[in-house]
Amino acid sequence: MDVGWNTDEALETLKEGLSSIGTDLRSIESIVVTHIHPDHYGLAGRVREISGAKVALHHLDAALTKSRYLDPRDLLLEMRSFLLDAGAPKEQVEELQTASLPALDRRSFVEPDIEIQHEEIAPIPGRSLKVIWTPGHSPGHICLYEGRSKRLFSGDHILPRITANISYHPQSGDNPLRDYLESLEKINNYDIEEVEPAHEYQFKEVAMRIKEIQHHHIERLVEIKTVLKSPPSKTAWDVAQELTWSRPFNSYPPFMKRMAVGETVAHLKYLISSKEVIAHNDNPVTYSPLEL
Ligand SMILES: [Zn+2]
Ligand SMILES: [Zn+2]
Repeated sequence: MDVGWNTDEALETLKEGLSSIGTDLRSIESIVVTHIHPDHYGLAGRVREISGAKVALHHLDAALTKSRYLDPRDLLLEMRSFLLDAGAPKEQVEELQTASLPALDRRSFVEPDIEIQHEEIAPIPGRSLKVIWTPGHSPGHICLYEGRSKRLFSGDHILPRITANISYHPQSGDNPLRDYLESLEKINNYDIEEVEPAHEYQFKEVAMRIKEIQHHHIERLVEIKTVLKSPPSKTAWDVAQELTWSRPFNSYPPFMKRMAVGETVAHLKYLISSKEVIAHNDNPVTYSPLEL
């Protein structure tokens, strides 16, 4: 399962965890990772080296490992044009564009040995965990469901307190929020007693948590429509500045600003697909409400 950042500290924590259940790194036979993000996938290479375990990732995230971790030059250029289209001020584009590069030191490039697909049984010896493809937070995000114990290993898809970041960016797919909301519905079809998320803590009552998360996104969509009501048409950057965040948008460090803009664009794309907002392909792109 997810191994964490590529740091000595994460490796030590993993070792301690394994020894507390009477095993060690060398006994690991497979590493099934819920998605490509470096806080989940980063350590996979080192654990594979120590244990000889096979690394497994959904095929859509597997397709992104090279451009993201081995040679991110194209991705950086795509990020630059995304930020300019979103209306980021020219003098901030450089720092926003490179904001995630420091994280490159905390992951290693690993190509998975096994590419997994929706509804197959995860390659974990002795366990029967079904793969549920839940795109949204990343295109190849998966959850794992154990029918016998009615447990869901939810990765970042469903967390007990915080909501997963759903952002539009060069590798997100066209409409990540629609994907995400559909993936939440998918989970609703399973009989789940307990959720084991990748962050925070275990919890029950998954249906209630799904409702809360849906509500959060609906509120966000309403907030964006309200912001767009006052003319003139606005860029995604303008909209992001007017939304409520955990603290004022302009006080965020570059990486957080970029996440906030990505989240805003994800919601705007959703509103375009539901025919509530229209995008004007100016440079930068602006948005206005679509009157029916
Ligand atoms: Zn993640
Ligand atoms: Zn995470």
